[in-house]
Amino acid sequence: MTLPVLQERPRIEEDPLDLMEEIDALKREKDATILAHFYVDGEIQDIADFTGDSLKLARDATRVTTSTIVFAGVHFMGESAKIMNPQKRVLIPDLLAGCSLADSCPPEQLAAFQQQLRAMGRDFHTVAYINTSAAVKSLVDWIVTSGNAQEIIGRVPKDKEILFVPDQHLGRYLMEVTGRKMILWPGACMVHEVFSIQDLIRIKRSHPGSVVMSHPECPQNILEISDVIGGTEKMRQHVMKLQTPTTFLVATEASMIHPLQKAAPQHTYIPVPGIMSASGETCACNRCPHMARNTLQKIRDCLRDGRPEIEWKDYFSKAREVLDRSLLQ
Ligand code: SF4
Repeated sequence: MTLPVLQERPRIEEDPLDLMEEIDALKREKDATILAHFYVDGEIQDIADFTGDSLKLARDATRVTTSTIVFAGVHFMGESAKIMNPQKRVLIPDLLAGCSLADSCPPEQLAAFQQQLRAMGRDFHTVAYINTSAAVKSLVDWIVTSGNAQEIIGRVPKDKEILFVPDQHLGRYLMEVTGRKMILWPGACMVHEVFSIQDLIRIKRSHPGSVVMSHPECPQNILEISDVIGGTEKMRQHVMKLQTPTTFLVATEASMIHPLQKAAPQHTYIPVPGIMSASGETCACNRCPHMARNTLQKIRDCLRDGRPEIEWKDYFSKAREVLDRSLLQ
């Protein structure tokens, strides 16, 4: 008798509505709150208790009353939530959801560079964008988000130099708006660095009267032709203030269109295309591959299984002092 050959079954896609119901029940059963960044899929933002940019979510995390936080975003955001809430269990749907910008500034390289500057007699404060690992946060004096960077830089004493890490584009933009000179770390975000300037100019020409709205992580050539420059929360506030239907060309991660549409549906939003690094071709929109690792399925699984979890590390205490001083005071 010949036995039938067992073949691997194709992965069954689960119904998003069933998953949402399951997540809702698990949230109550496990005493959990879901935080979702504006760059994750819209369906995840819709089931979250809090949505926002890094600054808002870091603050929201301190207001959570449940014993568990599920952070739909990337690894450094989960770390920040844990740092601000040491007594809570912080879960992230996928441990591999990293960040090219955070990876561009390894803590040991930063420590060596700071040492080198001190040996040269340079008197400086290190200001880090929030998109950095907790280990890097523990090495710096200030942490900024795109929402509060100008205000925090104003707090650095005028007689100090500023070492800004890791985003060179945001750093250059901040030098321009604050008038402070900075030593810039040569890091960049893989999503914001690849917007196609040619396509942006072409779309702008074909949509007369359109408004270009860009994230300050974009390179100078994109910012130079932008009408509005700001982080994701500033973009949301801007479109809400405007009643006249307008076409916005949006140069940031494409999932940002979802909260913009929800906040101000009277407008039209067109994501600015990016250039695919593999082929050099233009893609219709620009998605962060790390943020895209977050799925409803993984959120359900991490709630159900209680992992992956962000574990407390010794250097989190030092990072907490800096985060407290920079974001909460
Ligand atoms: S969009 Fe860029 S900065 Fe944001 S998580 Fe993705 S790689 Fe990091």
